[in-house]
Amino acid sequence: MIELDREQQMMLSTVKEIVHDVIRPRAAEIDEKQEFPWDTVRVFTENGILTPLLPERYGGVGVNYLCFCLILEEIARACASSALLLIAQADGMLPILCGGSEELKEDHLPGLARGKLAAFAATEPGAGSDVLSMKTRALRKGEQYVLNGRKCFITNGGVADLITVYAYTDPDKGGRGISAFVVEKGTPGLSYGKNENKMGMRGSINSELIFEDMAVPAGNRIGREGDGMANMMAALDTSRLFAAAQAVGLAQGAIDEAVKYAGERVQFGRPIARQQAIQFMLADMVAATEAARLLTCQAARFLDREKGHQARKYCAMAKFTASDTAMRVTTDAVQVMGGYGYMKDFPVERMMRDAKLIQIYTGTNQIMRLVAAREIFRTLPAGSC
Ligand SMILES: Cc1cc2nc3c(=O)[nH]c(=O)nc-3n(C[C@H](O)[C@H](O)[C@H](O)COP(=O)(O)OP(=O)(O)OC[C@H]3O[C@@H](n4cnc5c(N)ncnc54)[C@H](O)[C@@H]3O)c2cc1C
Repeated sequence: MIELDREQQMMLSTVKEIVHDVIRPRAAEIDEKQEFPWDTVRVFTENGILTPLLPERYGGVGVNYLCFCLILEEIARACASSALLLIAQADGMLPILCGGSEELKEDHLPGLARGKLAAFAATEPGAGSDVLSMKTRALRKGEQYVLNGRKCFITNGGVADLITVYAYTDPDKGGRGISAFVVEKGTPGLSYGKNENKMGMRGSINSELIFEDMAVPAGNRIGREGDGMANMMAALDTSRLFAAAQAVGLAQGAIDEAVKYAGERVQFGRPIARQQAIQFMLADMVAATEAARLLTCQAARFLDREKGHQARKYCAMAKFTASDTAMRVTTDAVQVMGGYGYMKDFPVERMMRDAKLIQIYTGTNQIMRLVAAREIFRTLPAGSC
């Protein structure tokens, strides 16, 4: 049903090996210690998986969105934080690939396949769902822009070598006054606030970024002045697809654990897997996860075929469907495993904490329903919805 060419199939089997050898054994530890997995970054880099969407001409392998989703799913099945590291990398890279000048691409993209890390910075303390209320300003001064403001919750933020930053170049123009910039680590005026202490996804790093009279060369602007909002919306569509794939992997990982446990746990003289109540719960978990997977694959196919409005609607629907499913499935996996499921000796309690984030980040699931509804009613005459 899912068609991949030989090269993509080989990449997926490499990913499975890495998950088995490196990612799964480290998942509990990086969660417990809230540790950024540099060893995983190294292994991803060595195997061409750190930035697999990057086209070959910039040093990547150029997989399509569907293949990247399957990679994310496989990784998230064992460790959602490690999948998030790749998602943040793609979120920081794609705005440059899709909107940057050729010079900007050649300067910055090859490094991302060689181990440099990227981040995507839109959210601010007062601007989450309402991203247009951002306060960060970029003032043009000759051949530079001077940025002032702060961003929060930024995944990979504190470790990123380059950050795609959104700021108002002309606040009077609303959405058409936002521009995007590549900001490099070490730029004078860039400093870091706290790294967040989180409920879940504790193996990823989320940082506050502070810009104080930070001068960025005009050549680091991505696209034209005022293109930032369109660039951000396109990046958010793909980011939502990636989050959906991550959620499907997480749900599948919880199912794997629950099925295994149900077959081994004996109560009342037989495995709990023989209790109809447990069987029904698992049937629902598997059916919902399979449905979320199909919707995610469909969204990926629309993006691979560059179907603009359809892709936006499907990415939003896949994101809220898959993450709501992951939340329900991971919670039920804990239930299937009873008291042991609640303990840190088994991975499902971590998976349940990790699932919660996917309902929130890259646009909350309330906002996802608004995005999908806007596309559903888009063809109605103005004023009717
Ligand atoms: C761990 C983590 C990682 C993140 N990584 C990044 C990153 O790398 N880059 C980045 O830019 N951002 C990142 N974010 C930010 C994330 O995208 C925002 O948290 C998210 O968009 C929601 O914004 P908010 O937290 O300010 O919530 P708010 O916008 O304050 O929302 C609070 C509640 O109100 C609801 N709500 C708000 N407006 C509406 C509305 N119009 N209709 C219905 N309900 C509404 C929301 O659904 C939510 O339930 C990250 C966040 C987290 C927690």
